[in-house]
Amino acid sequence: MTANNRLRNIVIVGGGTAGWMTAAALGRYLKDGYTKVTLVESEAIGTVGVGESTIPQINIFNRMLGLDENDFVRKTKATYKLAIEFVDWKAIGHSYHHPFGPYGIDMEAVSFHAYWLKLHALGEDHDLGAYSLNVLAARQDRFMRPNGQPNSPLGSIAYAYQFDAGLYARYLRDYSEARGVTRQEGKIATVQQNPLNGHVTSVTLESGQVVEGDLFIDCSGFRGLLIEQTLKAGYEDWSQWLVNDRAVAMPCTLGGSTAPVTRATARPAGWQWRIPLQHRLGNGYAYSSAHISEDEATSFLLAHLDGEPLASPNHIRFTAGRRKKSWDRNVVAIGLAAGFMEPLESQSIHLIQVGIARLLAMFPDRDFRQPDIDRYNRVMTFEYEKIRDFLILHYKATTRNDTPYWDYVREMPVPDYLADKMAVFESYGRIFRENEELFNDTSWFAVMVGQGVVPKGYDPMVDVMSDDELRRRMAEIRSVIARSAEVMPGHMAFIRANCDAMG
Ligand SMILES: Cc1cc2nc3c(=O)[nH]c(=O)nc-3n(C[C@H](O)[C@H](O)[C@H](O)COP(=O)(O)OP(=O)(O)OC[C@H]3O[C@@H](n4cnc5c(N)ncnc54)[C@H](O)[C@@H]3O)c2cc1C
Repeated sequence: MTANNRLRNIVIVGGGTAGWMTAAALGRYLKDGYTKVTLVESEAIGTVGVGESTIPQINIFNRMLGLDENDFVRKTKATYKLAIEFVDWKAIGHSYHHPFGPYGIDMEAVSFHAYWLKLHALGEDHDLGAYSLNVLAARQDRFMRPNGQPNSPLGSIAYAYQFDAGLYARYLRDYSEARGVTRQEGKIATVQQNPLNGHVTSVTLESGQVVEGDLFIDCSGFRGLLIEQTLKAGYEDWSQWLVNDRAVAMPCTLGGSTAPVTRATARPAGWQWRIPLQHRLGNGYAYSSAHISEDEATSFLLAHLDGEPLASPNHIRFTAGRRKKSWDRNVVAIGLAAGFMEPLESQSIHLIQVGIARLLAMFPDRDFRQPDIDRYNRVMTFEYEKIRDFLILHYKATTRNDTPYWDYVREMPVPDYLADKMAVFESYGRIFRENEELFNDTSWFAVMVGQGVVPKGYDPMVDVMSDDELRRRMAEIRSVIARSAEVMPGHMAFIRANCDAMG
């Protein structure tokens, strides 16, 4: 690259979570006037207004930005999250946790999961959650950050946050503007393209103002103003597997449990989320419009809140899937503009983060070379597809047969990758993580076991350890984890002591 070929103007279209996360990252790295970064957003259009639950990888993003954790938690009125609690998914009345962080420890080069499966096969079906510090702490409503202690589960507790999406965008806006990002208020009315290569050259606001750029980052949400409406990148529809196409969201006053978990409760035609923040609960019902009407879903949600409603219902429509190309010419789509899968595993904000990280890794100049763009698209396709299959597992592996909705998802054919993963697990209980797929073997194990997928056998290698020795070591692990959980403070007590937004 020659110095005079570098990007001069980057335009981010949209000021939701995706837009401001992108702005913050560019503000952090493109320092000293390397290039100008402008973010255009429209208060009249607003943001999607949801997206409050995260996974531990967000800590990588926060560290990259150099955020002070207590300040971040306070300003976004956040709480901590150790797991997702799945209620009524396998069967009505059954629940399990998908924890961040491992179960037990691997022994003699064999996965802990294999030993647990052997105990299960011996009929000693010890509660899987008893081997996870995150699950025990979640059940007991406790939290602390890892204390770095070696050889202790307390040394490396994996955690994430639940925050107010509007406050998060505001927080990152302050961060970005302090690092030279310019915010431009206004609704984009038209988009101009280079007639020769189709590159976007500028956007024109309703006010008539023109904003020019070399690279455009489309964070305009579901509408995909540049990537779809202008460049027609195309959309791959996954709704035959992820049938929910609507959500109704509604915050309410605090009530019920304050445990550091997001709860996902399976419902007759979808599922309901419950996300505790410091000042309110975030709630919503993601549902299939083919199986329940908007009015029914809204009434159902209203009847299943733990507090008093704080706003009128926010109705959202979507189609599960992914933009066929999230980078096309000089436009990179990040966030909802790039694709959407229901937030069953709180993965969307993470996908924004991945989009940003890959963009930084393949940062272009004005040549926009195709091999790099193709590579970006391949990597993003991989990320989306592997997460998609993990989400589908929650539906496929169910015994529920109480509504046509559950009959459909239980019987549907699934993608080959998932079918193979389930078949390999059903054989000897093994899970193999492919390359850098987001969800690791602990996650797959938690959901396979949680949803009731029982292997026919277990890894023969575990028989190297005698049954008595196995029982002794497993009891020891349970005891270490139980004792570790006992020393953790209460979740809200921890927040009050360190990062109270309300005090
Ligand atoms: C029901 C639901 C629940 C979710 N829950 C979670 C969750 O728990 N965890 C998680 O990780 N993710 C979740 N997500 C996803 C998460 O909400 C999004 O990934 C995140 O909010 C990013 O949205 P966005 O910034 O791409 O789009 P938006 O928030 O829609 O922002 C779009 C921006 O573009 C601007 N814009 C659009 N058109 C124009 C125009 N013509 N001119 C100017 N500006 C324009 C808008 O003003 C806005 O600023 C959820 C999503 C849904 C639908």
